[in-house]
Amino acid sequence: MKVLKFGGTSVGSAKNINNVISILENVSKNDSIIGTVSAVGGITDKLLLAGKQAQNKDIGYLNTFSLIKDIHVAIIEELNPNNGKSLKEHVETDLNALKNLLDGIYLINELSPKTSDKLVSFGELLSSFIIAETMKQRGMSVVCKNSQELIITNSNFTKAEVNYNITNKNIQDYFRNVTQKITIIPGFISKSQLGEQTTLGRGGSDFTASIVAAALKVQQLEIWTDVSGMFTTNPKLVKQAYPIEKISYQEAMELSHFGAKVLYPPTVQPVLNLNIPIHIKNTLDPEAVGTIISNDETNTTSPVKGISNISNIALLTLQGSGMIGIPGFSKRLFETLSQEKINVILITQASSEHSICLGIDENDAELAKSAIDATFENEIALNKIDPIIVEKDLSIIALVGDNMKNHQGISGKMFSSLGKNNINIRAIAQGASEKNISAVILQSDVKKALNTLHEQFFESKTKQLNVFITGVGNVGEKLVEQIKQQRKYLKENLKINLRITGLSNSKNMIFNEEGIDLSNWKEQLVTGEKATLEGFFEGTKSLNLRNSIFVDVTANKDVSELYAKYLRQSIGVVACNKIACSSDYENYKLLKRLSLKYNAPFLFETNVGAGLPIIQTLSNLIASGDKITSIHAVLSGSLNFVFNNFNDTTKFYDVVKQAAKEGYTEPDPRIDLSGVDVARKILILARESGMEMNLEDISNTPFLSEAGLKSDSVDDFYQTLINDEAHYQKLYASAKAKGCQLKYVAQLNNGKASVSLQEIPSDHPFYNLKGKDNIVMFYTQRYPEQPMIIKGAGAGAEVTASGLFADIIRIGND
Ligand code: ADP
Ligand code: ASP
Ligand code: MG
Repeated sequence: MKVLKFGGTSVGSAKNINNVISILENVSKNDSIIGTVSAVGGITDKLLLAGKQAQNKDIGYLNTFSLIKDIHVAIIEELNPNNGKSLKEHVETDLNALKNLLDGIYLINELSPKTSDKLVSFGELLSSFIIAETMKQRGMSVVCKNSQELIITNSNFTKAEVNYNITNKNIQDYFRNVTQKITIIPGFISKSQLGEQTTLGRGGSDFTASIVAAALKVQQLEIWTDVSGMFTTNPKLVKQAYPIEKISYQEAMELSHFGAKVLYPPTVQPVLNLNIPIHIKNTLDPEAVGTIISNDETNTTSPVKGISNISNIALLTLQGSGMIGIPGFSKRLFETLSQEKINVILITQASSEHSICLGIDENDAELAKSAIDATFENEIALNKIDPIIVEKDLSIIALVGDNMKNHQGISGKMFSSLGKNNINIRAIAQGASEKNISAVILQSDVKKALNTLHEQFFESKTKQLNVFITGVGNVGEKLVEQIKQQRKYLKENLKINLRITGLSNSKNMIFNEEGIDLSNWKEQLVTGEKATLEGFFEGTKSLNLRNSIFVDVTANKDVSELYAKYLRQSIGVVACNKIACSSDYENYKLLKRLSLKYNAPFLFETNVGAGLPIIQTLSNLIASGDKITSIHAVLSGSLNFVFNNFNDTTKFYDVVKQAAKEGYTEPDPRIDLSGVDVARKILILARESGMEMNLEDISNTPFLSEAGLKSDSVDDFYQTLINDEAHYQKLYASAKAKGCQLKYVAQLNNGKASVSLQEIPSDHPFYNLKGKDNIVMFYTQRYPEQPMIIKGAGAGAEVTASGLFADIIRIGND
C-alpha cells in the first residue's frame, strides 16, 4: 500500500487534477493507494480572507465567497463537461453551508480559532469530494473518506495535536475493510475528541498523509507538489538551486523547520521510526527523479545539504547588568513565552550572560514584548534589566547538513562570504548537534545571502560577477562588446559568470537582475528610464546582488565623486576615469581605505597607459618588497601621436585636430596639451609607489604658447594653434637641429615628479616610440641599471576597454 499526497498547485486546476488522476490510476495498477489532497491552490488563504472580512464587517466577504465558488464551479465544469450535475449539486450544498457560516461571522463580528478551523475545512472537503467523484464518474474504483472521522486531536484549534492512539486505531480499522483500490482523503483537517472541527496547521496536508502512512505502516509515502523535490535552497529565490536526490530525515526536518516550505515540518515524525521513506515528486513533471528522504546512506559530497530561510522574524534582546544575579532568569523568560504560546525559533546567549537574544515570528513581537516586560517589571524598575529591545524586518538563514560536524571551517566560510557581500549578521546560533548553523539577517538581504551561500557551498566552481557600467561611449561600447564575446570563454575557462546587470549613458539607464540581454542592448538602453547618477547608484544598490562591480567609463568628475558611496555598499569600483585617483590625496586615500574596509575592490589600471599592465606591475613590485627609485615615462598616447606626426611639412593645428578625430585626446584637448593629463598619470604612479603627493607638487613646464595656455574655450584654443604655428615650428626645429625627437616625458625621481616636453637623443629608448605608444621605465632596487620597461599602445578604445575588462576579471579571480 502507498500513500500519495497532492498539494494545492497539484489540484489547482482541472488540468492539474487530470494529471493527479492519471498518476493515481498508474500507481493503483500495482498497489492499493490512499490519495491525500489539499484544498485547491490558494483556497485556504481565500477562506481565511473571507472570514477576516466578514469579521471586520467588510461586505467584500461576499465577493471573496463568489470567487471561491467560481473557482470550484469552473473546475467541475472543465473536469466533467457532460456529467457534472450531481457533483455540482453536492458542491452547491457545501458552498451554501460555507456562505451561511460566513454570514454568521459577519452578523456576530467574531471569528474564533474554532470557527476559523471550521471555515478552512471547506477547502479540503470540497477538493477531495470533487476529485473522488470525478474519478468515480470515469469508472475508477474509488471511495472518498472524510479524514475528520479518522484523525482525532485535542482542541488546540488551528494547530491541533494528534491523539495517535485513537487515530491509529481509526485508520487501521477503516482500511481493513476498504475494497476500493483508491481512497481519497482530505488533508489538513481533523476533529477533536469533542467532535469539533480542527486542523493540523497551515501546510498540514503533508502531515495527514504521513499520519496515515505510519498508522498503516505502508512501504512509501509520496508527497506530490509543484517542484521536483526538496531543493538545495528555495528555488523561487535562487535560480541555480537544484533538487537533492537523497537526504536524511534529520536534514529534511531541519530544512523544513527552517523554512523549506515544500515539507510541513511535523511530517517527518510519524514515519521516522518506522523507516518509511518519503519521496517528494513533481505533479507537473512526474518523470523527474525527485527527492528521497530516508535513513539510507546519503553519499554526501558536500557537508552542507541545503540552505533554508524563514522570513518575518523579530529579534528580542533582553540585556542588563543585573541579569547574572537574577535566579531562574531564563526559566521565567521561557515560561512567559510559553504561556503566551509564542514559539521561539532561535536562541543565542552571550557567554557573559549579560544578554539573551531570541528569534520569534514577527506577528508575536508586540505580545512578547508586553508579556516579558511585565514578567520582569520589578527588575526593570530597579534598572537591573533594560526593557526588551525588539527589532523587526529580519530573517533567519540556516545551513543544514548531518555531515557539517565532520568538516572544519564551514561557519567561517559562511560568515566570511556573507561579510564580503556586506550582509550584516545580527545574531548567530549553532545547534549543539552541528546539523544547523543559522544567522539572523535583514529581510532585504535574504535573496543576496541565499545566492551567495549557494554559490559558496553548491556551485563553488563558478563565480557570478554583476557589472553595472556607466558611460557607453567609445570605450564603454567596446567593453560591452568584449564582454558579450567573451562570456562563454570566461564561464568555461575561468569559471566566471560575467553578467552586465546595469547600463547607463548620460540619458538613459537600464537594469536587469538576470543580466541584460546583450544582443540588443542599445535598443533597450534607448527605451530605458531616465538616467541620473544617483538613480544609477540607487538602482545598483537596491538590486543588492553579490559581487557587484560599478564600472566608470566616463571622464566625469560627478561620477567619480560617487565611488565612496558604491564602496560603502561593498560594491567594487573599476574606473578608467582618472579624476578620483588624481584628486586630493585625502580623497584618494579615503577610497583606498573604504575599499579595504568594505572588501570592495577599487581598480583603475586604465588610468595610466590604457590597457598596459602598468599599475598592476607597480603594485606587484611593491607587494613583493621592491622599492621604486625612479620612473621615466612617456604616458600620453595623444601627445606622442602629435609629436610623431608634427614636422616642418605639417601644421601643428592639423595634427592636433587629427589626434582628436581619432579619439586619442580627451574631449578637451587642452587637458592633454597642457600636460595636465600626464601630470595626473605620474601622480597616480607616485601615489601607487607609496608617496603622498598632490597635483600641485608636480612641476609642469608648459610648451604651449602664451595664448594657448590662456585660452578659455576649446574653439579659442584651436585658434591659437593656428595663430602660433611659428612657436611650435620653433620647438621642432630646435630638436631637429640636435638630431633629437620631441617627446613629452614624465619623471619621478627622489620623491619629485615633473612633466615636460624634452628633446630625446637617438640612443635613448624613448627615441623610437611610434604612433600613440606609451613607455614606462621602472628603476627599482631590483632593477637598478637596466630598468623594467613596459611599452605598447597607450590609448584607443579597444585597448582601454580591454584594460577595464582585465580589472573586472581580476575581481572574479580573487
Ligand atoms: P504544496 O501546495 O504542494 O504543499 P507548497 O507551496 O507547500 O506546495 O511547497 C512547495 C513550495 O515550497 C515550492 O513551490 C517552493 O516555492 C517552496 N520551497 C521553499 N524552499 C524549498 C526547497 N528547499 N525545496 C523545494 N521547494 C521549496
Ligand atoms: N490547504 C492547507 C493550507 O493551505 C493545507 C495544505 O495545503 O497542506 O495550509
Ligand atoms: Mg505544502
